[in-house]
Amino acid sequence: RDSSDMWGIPMDGISMNYALSKTRSRIINLEPSAMVVTANALSLYRTRKDPIYRDVVKRSWLTLPDGAGLVWAMRLLGVPVVERVAGIDFMHGLSRLSAAEGWPVYLLGSKPGVADEAGRKLTELYPGLVVAGSRDGYFSEEEDLDVVQEIKDSGAKVLFVALGMPKQDVWLDKYLPDMDGVVGVGVGGSLDVVSG
Ligand code: UDP
Repeated sequence: RDSSDMWGIPMDGISMNYALSKTRSRIINLEPSAMVVTANALSLYRTRKDPIYRDVVKRSWLTLPDGAGLVWAMRLLGVPVVERVAGIDFMHGLSRLSAAEGWPVYLLGSKPGVADEAGRKLTELYPGLVVAGSRDGYFSEEEDLDVVQEIKDSGAKVLFVALGMPKQDVWLDKYLPDMDGVVGVGVGGSLDVVSG
């Protein structure tokens, strides 16, 4: 993994465009599923105290600097960082790219109705975008495998997950390996914002 190190955590201080182009290569080359973490100061702090979460972030494919405070700290410590790549901006950028490339997207998380509405908003914003499915984030662990099957059956190549930090990243780390060539992104409160 070609990342910088920040307190033992891999950080990818790359530009939004580069992150999107790396995602594009991954998907068109049919590489295995991979997770993008959108990190902020709070999530980095959590990696210090929570070894499970730390390992999840270490196993991720990209850790993008979503928080302004984190970007500030990276600059202070001399960790390379081009710009802040906010999770919501990455979600918009990847939705636009998915519309252009014909990649179906799946939206998982937030309160009932929110992901569906976010899907409608994104298809309005990015004509041609295929929302392969959406589902709220209030399901039990017993339902996990049904949710995974639903995502697999949808044919999604891009999966946005809004279950809050650290749950979304832990969930993706656990289940992405069961999916075929999917890029999963933890997007925190972004579905709420888009549906807003
Ligand atoms: N969320 C969810 N299921 C859960 C917990 C949270 O779908 O079990 C959703 C919540 O509704 C919200 C999103 O996760 O839309 C982000 O939650 P929060 O703002 O707490 O997390 P953060 O943005 O700080 O990561």
